[in-house]
Amino acid sequence: MTDEDLSGFPLALEGPDVPMVSFRTVTKRYGELVVLDALNLDVAEGEMVTVIGPSGSGKTTVLRMLMTLETINGGVIYVDGKPLTHMPRNGRLVRADSRHLRQMRSNIGMCFQHFNLFPHMTALENCMEGPVHVLGIPKAEARARSEELLDMVGMADKRDQHPSRLSGGQQQRVAIARALAMRPKVMLFDEVTSALDPEVIGEVTNVIRRLVAEHNLTMLMVTHQMGFAKDISDRVCFFYGGRIEEQGAPDELFGNPQKERTQQFLSAVK
Ligand code: ADP
Repeated sequence: MTDEDLSGFPLALEGPDVPMVSFRTVTKRYGELVVLDALNLDVAEGEMVTVIGPSGSGKTTVLRMLMTLETINGGVIYVDGKPLTHMPRNGRLVRADSRHLRQMRSNIGMCFQHFNLFPHMTALENCMEGPVHVLGIPKAEARARSEELLDMVGMADKRDQHPSRLSGGQQQRVAIARALAMRPKVMLFDEVTSALDPEVIGEVTNVIRRLVAEHNLTMLMVTHQMGFAKDISDRVCFFYGGRIEEQGAPDELFGNPQKERTQQFLSAVK
């Protein structure tokens, strides 16, 4: 990464309407391949935004950048008003140090297609691990909170089971509880139903529905399930070639897409 000029970017976003997540002309390249092309994307606090689009359009890269799993080649990402991978020093933005990165990462929870639960721990231990060992929360408090979350995802009665004893849908519900146990400000969902058998998809989407309905969490989701996206999103963004080709309320985007590429994509996935 060369020293790019970030002088045009604010050191922090301030004011009453600061988005919880803000991509400002974010560019990501792998060699010659431009994966995100000066992307602008804001997600308001409490908003559920879904990203749809053809394979290779950069959807997962957006989530990976928020997890700081990828370097940024241009632009700045802000989370809760603070630059994610940069920090202010002497009045300008410089690359963040590991302490800043750690702090910023703690704002973000993620659920992947593959649940990645710790196999040697029970459902409850999986949920308690981060709060106790990363956040330093007392064990009793972490246990109470984890039990509450497992109850919320309908897994209270399985809390002492190891992942190998649970179905895919059950494991994914534990993974959601585990991410929430870290009290993130933003939750990311990356194709959380695509590795699941069709008959258990509903139990996972219902948990996410509940989160949307009952919690004021900011969420960014990538999915191929158009019906689900339509049902639960506040806004849907159609990605094409590393940019947002079209975005809008689900009824508008699915019911009356304006751009030809959106129309083609939606008719192909129907
Ligand atoms: P989507 O989630 O929309 O399918 P991705 O964000 O996973 O797309 O990938 C966007 C593009 O970036 C694809 O062309 C993919 O091949 C490429 N890509 C992703 N990760 C890497 C990598 N580590 N190295 C090189 N190219 C990559």
